[in-house]
Amino acid sequence: MNLPRPSAAADWDLSAEEALHRRRVRRMLVAGGSVMGAAALWWGSYFAWQGVWPLVASDVLIGSAGVAVVTLALRGHLRAASLLILPVLLAVLTLQSLLLDVPTPAAPRSVHLYLLPLAVFALVAFRHDPPWLARGAPLLCLALFLVFSATQAGWVGGHRLPDALRVWGSWINAVLAVSTLFVMLYILQTDASPLTARQIELRKALARGQMVLHYQPQVDAAQGTVGAEALVRWRHPTRGLVMPGEFIPLAERTGLILPLGDWVLTEACRQLARWASDPALAPLVLSVNVSAAQLHQADFVSRVVHALQTHGVAPERLRLELTESVLVQDLQSIAAQLGALKAHGVTLSLDDFGTGFSSLSYLKRLPLHELKIDKSFVQDLLEDGSDATIVESMLTLGRSLGLRVIAEGVETEAQWRYLRDHGCHLFQGYWFSPPLAPEAFEAFVRRQPPASAGAGADAGSVQASAG
Ligand code: C2E
Ligand code: MG
Ligand code: MG
Repeated sequence: MNLPRPSAAADWDLSAEEALHRRRVRRMLVAGGSVMGAAALWWGSYFAWQGVWPLVASDVLIGSAGVAVVTLALRGHLRAASLLILPVLLAVLTLQSLLLDVPTPAAPRSVHLYLLPLAVFALVAFRHDPPWLARGAPLLCLALFLVFSATQAGWVGGHRLPDALRVWGSWINAVLAVSTLFVMLYILQTDASPLTARQIELRKALARGQMVLHYQPQVDAAQGTVGAEALVRWRHPTRGLVMPGEFIPLAERTGLILPLGDWVLTEACRQLARWASDPALAPLVLSVNVSAAQLHQADFVSRVVHALQTHGVAPERLRLELTESVLVQDLQSIAAQLGALKAHGVTLSLDDFGTGFSSLSYLKRLPLHELKIDKSFVQDLLEDGSDATIVESMLTLGRSLGLRVIAEGVETEAQWRYLRDHGCHLFQGYWFSPPLAPEAFEAFVRRQPPASAGAGADAGSVQASAG
């Protein structure tokens, strides 16, 4: 199994940065190539109508180059496309500025305006090249722009286009060149934040099926597995297995948690459907973590019901874990959503219990089935008297409200015995097993009572979570 390497985070930043750079260049090439094609089509048609065949031929060449640039860019040959568009446009714009578009008192020069978006493109596209190209190309574009703007330079021969044409032609060129400049700057600005790069990568990961669910057993007082918690992991092509702590917060900030949460729900139901045909696995209840944004979707209940029905899963097999922070906003509408879920037979667990806000009044207003004591209280249970007091209070509270209590983060036998002796119903933690890939989890269930901690596990998740 691919484990995360120490420098993995830096690698990810680098590869995300590189992906962002390529995306930027590709978008600029497609925009630039399209403008070349469109301008060549327009002017080529006009000159064909006028019967100026040498200019039609030159527009056919420019248009073909534009089509080639777009095709190469879309196929990912960004280097070839960049090395095609730069010299072709430099040559064409310079020749046209000197031969066809020489300014007169009646009509200004305009074709050189395209040098401005070309300079922006060159600055971005050749950023990683040696200085003569990285700085030289954009500076050459700007130097030519300056010369053609500030001087009358040009060969005043028979090639110059008539003023009447150049008067309205300069409007077309100016509008098109300034629009292209705007598009280039827009691409630069919208892609500027590193958040966007990670966001793009995460979205792609979801689309490319790089997300996987691992399952951490939940056991009863006799250490028999009664269920599991589904925990998402990202099988990153270069970083190995990435833990949710590294991408769930980003997904939550960017709204990607909605498609990701949908995927988790669907995959969990698919897994439950597979287990249903195996007598050893069919009775298991699968817990799925649900984020605030998911719960605030107006159609969340119907999404859950749809996922269950699509895979023919009994609702009692699915448990949704919510954290206290979810309950901070709009308790009334959340209570209604949860009530509807309960009516369908889905059970609810309050995750990370004790770490959220202090009012406990929500406990009686919500149709909860289970309280999940946060691992931070379990960790120092035997060393810290106040943690032991809190845990015992939670157990008493759960009992008096008729709720099941599960402790997470159980790492030692002593913690397990203490919790069991104080009336805790269920347990989850490395002492029994870390989260496991599906096949390893199924083997674990069949091997009851379970082996000691760490057996057959994805050690990567132990190290990453324990850290
Ligand atoms: P959580 O729901 O509280 O999940 C329990 C976390 O504790 C898991 O970390 C698990 O691997 C870890 N853990 C289990 N046993 C032990 C133990 O004995 N000791 C210690 N120190 N840790 C233990 P993981 O998988 O890294 O998940 C972290 C958090 O990411 C989860 O916390 C949950 O909030 C979030 N998450 C994971 N999967 C999903 C998902 O599908 N959707 C959403 N919305 N959040 C998810
Ligand atoms: Mg959880
Ligand atoms: Mg938790």
